[in-house]
Amino acid sequence: MARYTEAVCRLCRREGLKLYLKGERCYTEKCAVDRRTYPPGQHGQGRRSKPSEYGLQLREKQKARRIYGVLESQFRKYFKEADRRKGITGENLLQLLESRLDNVVYRLGFALSRPEARQLVRHGHVDVNGRRVSIPSYLLRPGDSISVRDTSRDKARFKDLSELLRTQGTVDWLEVDRTNLSGKFVRFPSREEIDIPITEHLIVELYSR
Ligand code: SF4
Repeated sequence: MARYTEAVCRLCRREGLKLYLKGERCYTEKCAVDRRTYPPGQHGQGRRSKPSEYGLQLREKQKARRIYGVLESQFRKYFKEADRRKGITGENLLQLLESRLDNVVYRLGFALSRPEARQLVRHGHVDVNGRRVSIPSYLLRPGDSISVRDTSRDKARFKDLSELLRTQGTVDWLEVDRTNLSGKFVRFPSREEIDIPITEHLIVELYSR
């Protein structure tokens, strides 16, 4: 499956905010956004003209894609599905993105970043309803249970995680069992419960052009 493979800190610098793509490093003073507050590239420190309406819409879409680690073609499919569903298209879009398995593994606290969660899923460490699912884009539905596979729990990575999880909070739309490294997708989150800095109506406007 295709994915973005270049230096991810450049993406944060381009968007001018932390996208939390590197796990632990994002919470330290080594974070590139904190050290260099200008966009990457040769002209990164040059004077910037006011962005056009299209430019603003495009940046918002790119930001969302990068936060969730979704390529353009797949993102467009999510938009089509969001548009087809009842309700507010922008909110539907964010709910679809939040229900991806890699995102839920991250939200449950089993990984420090979405890219790390994606890798855990790809490497077959995660079960959904008791069966191994290795597709990060798998869309969960209310009632689905998620767990770290029995055979993976003994690995040092997950032992360290148990300690970390004790100090972490979770979101209301998921249930987590920290001892057994499992959780449940209770319901889709409302817009207020999705804490990402995205103005989704700009994305809807972009795709409605
Ligand atoms: Fe982004 Fe994390 Fe890199 Fe900071 S350390 S720029 S938050 S990926």
